[in-house]
Amino acid sequence: MAPTKRAPKSLNGEPGPVVDPGWPDWIDPAGTERLRDAIRGGRIGHAYLLSGPQGVGKAAAARAFAQALCCTTEERSDQSAPCGRCRACRNVLRGAHPDVETFSLDTQVKLADKPGRAATLTIETVRRLRSAGALFPLEGTRRILIIDDAETLLEPAQQALLKTLEEPPRAVTLMLLADEPEALLDTIRSRCQEVALRPVPQATVVQALQRPGVAESLAVEVATLSRGCAGWALAAVADKKLLQARRDERTTAARWIASPPYEKLVTAFTLGDQFGKRRGEVIGVVQAAIQLLRDEMIAAAQGTGEAEANEPQASGTTRPATFSRAISATLQCLSDLNSNVRPRLALEAMVVAWPNLETQDR
Ligand SMILES: [Zn+2]
Repeated sequence: MAPTKRAPKSLNGEPGPVVDPGWPDWIDPAGTERLRDAIRGGRIGHAYLLSGPQGVGKAAAARAFAQALCCTTEERSDQSAPCGRCRACRNVLRGAHPDVETFSLDTQVKLADKPGRAATLTIETVRRLRSAGALFPLEGTRRILIIDDAETLLEPAQQALLKTLEEPPRAVTLMLLADEPEALLDTIRSRCQEVALRPVPQATVVQALQRPGVAESLAVEVATLSRGCAGWALAAVADKKLLQARRDERTTAARWIASPPYEKLVTAFTLGDQFGKRRGEVIGVVQAAIQLLRDEMIAAAQGTGEAEANEPQASGTTRPATFSRAISATLQCLSDLNSNVRPRLALEAMVVAWPNLETQDR
């Protein structure tokens, strides 16, 4: 592996001018346009559910939405575009606007009596949200309450939240942000306008990283690891642990794919048995495997040129169709792991569909 490049100093907390992200161009534009259209048309909903993988830009989109609604600059040609300079815009960005409140695992820790980050948003937090929803807007015409990590709400907490959604306060917009919207009750989802934010092309992530000065080689590496989530990429260049964890997942996945058949199965069993304790990590490795198999498939397609899919497999090479089947099996495994199929079975079914790559070096 190439030596690790350090992120430029400007990213490591050196004071500088506050850059207003407005609507960052690295967020899925199809999703942000829906929110912006609602503002332009003056049809702002009572509740939105922004869904999408971690780091795709849900929080940044919610912040831009809040800024656009709170912005006090009158002469804006597009009401959905915050000016980014007025006091209201800057306060939203700093998390200091009285009409914009965020509830998340992090804010919950800060308000809790006992320290330690809980794994779920508690019913107490939902009660705080309900009280916040009863207040009138102080500076603008609307309060925006953002519930990050909404997928961690357990059922009693969701039931409490449902009451707010059933009788929404008039001047309040709730923004639920969830990595896994399936974790929410159907009754909650049906009362929200769901806006799915999808990963963006790798080039968009590279651009987002290079703008604040990340060197090209690091930007390309981080973008490759980002799975199209520029928010994650921007955090990863500032947090070495985050970046290293993802590098490790990729290395583990590459070794696993390249290992002999017997070892492949042993790894599947081991990770399956440890799934309960290492859920995030195992899912990360499987996601990394999907990406590696895709890269291999593209390389194989380019390498074999016009080689016919019906031709017998030449020794030492793997045909694109083989990778394609492997990718399908791996995507299926990911879906099974998220829907509580026994992890060991899901991982075993996946690796038996993987090509035998032990003759190829990576
Ligand atoms: Zn403004």
